[in-house]
Amino acid sequence: MIEFLNLKKINNLYAQELKEACSRVIDSGWYIGGNELACFEQEFADYCGAGYCVGVANGLDALTLTLRAWKEMGKLAEGDEVIVPANTYIASILAITENRLVPVLVEPDEKTFNLSPACVAAAITPRTKVILAVHLYGLLADMPEICALAEKHELLVLEDSAQAHGASIDGRRAGSWGHASGFSFYPGKNLGALGDGGAVTTNDSELASVIRALGNYGSYKKYENQYKGVNSRLDEIQAAMLRVKLRHLDHEVSVRREGAEQYMGGIENSLLEVPSVTRREQHVWHLFVVKSHRRDELKEYLHGHGIQTLIHYPIPVHHQNAYQEFSGRSYPITEAIHKQVLSLPLSTATSATDIDVIIRRLNAFS
Ligand SMILES: *Cc1c(COP(=O)(O)O)cnc(C)c1O
Repeated sequence: MIEFLNLKKINNLYAQELKEACSRVIDSGWYIGGNELACFEQEFADYCGAGYCVGVANGLDALTLTLRAWKEMGKLAEGDEVIVPANTYIASILAITENRLVPVLVEPDEKTFNLSPACVAAAITPRTKVILAVHLYGLLADMPEICALAEKHELLVLEDSAQAHGASIDGRRAGSWGHASGFSFYPGKNLGALGDGGAVTTNDSELASVIRALGNYGSYKKYENQYKGVNSRLDEIQAAMLRVKLRHLDHEVSVRREGAEQYMGGIENSLLEVPSVTRREQHVWHLFVVKSHRRDELKEYLHGHGIQTLIHYPIPVHHQNAYQEFSGRSYPITEAIHKQVLSLPLSTATSATDIDVIIRRLNAFS
């Protein structure tokens, strides 16, 4: 069986370092809000090219608390509109509705799966306040264009960088483009903890401190509460795990890139469409996603040959029971994407031999 993602194998590469880091935390006797977190935040801010990083409990909280902080800072109010791609993972939309803001779903570009600046421009109204740019599958959205649009219309830009740690355009990485950027360190992400974790990066020191307070019961000072906050913190063990994994992230990305190149060079079957990427060197390949009009058959066929694949994502947000208010909407590009996409195995646990086997099977699919 070629597994989609074997986390044990992935983390085993660093088993020694991870165990040492874990022991260091156990021995320190300090488990929340200590040195490991402070060091990780600094190291990750530097990695992204951002001024500040605030660790939180997960990627959803990173997005939710950023929008919430902008409300507390008077930059957003209930009912304001947030432009977001219709084909994103549901977390991007949950962060918006949790804050009683209005998600304005727009169709993505069918080639890049990311926001199309033209569709964003067409969706801007006097109520628009934020563009939530999702860097889906590891490719940055067209941030130069999106930031230019935002500047012209005086909008905030929030990046959903949960799938794009290290992805860049012109040397500028995810987490350094928007007014803020939310990251997830869910174990399966490119930079994955050994549990839940998330962070916000920003150059805005006030935003960073409001988010930090919101994640700590709304408190800047112990037992004094400025906001009705929540508990959303990145703990010392996870911060220590992430410091180890961050040191290896660029290498992991290079392994993913080699695998992606191998797929793109080897797949030859008119029933399949490989990703079309003009800036190949800038993609971090969180997922390697092919499209096929016969996706379900293809998935079954690969499964029959011992190759595990996944679908990101099978049901678009506007067809989810959770969002019945959107059920009457029609987003043909998004709906076609959800019917056609298939994610192939690609990680440091996927060998070149595995990928060769997969390519041979894909090319024999008829
Ligand atoms: C994983 C993911 C999130 C949520 O991250 P969690 O840490 O699981 O809360 C948000 N947005 C996107 C695009 C994701 O892939």
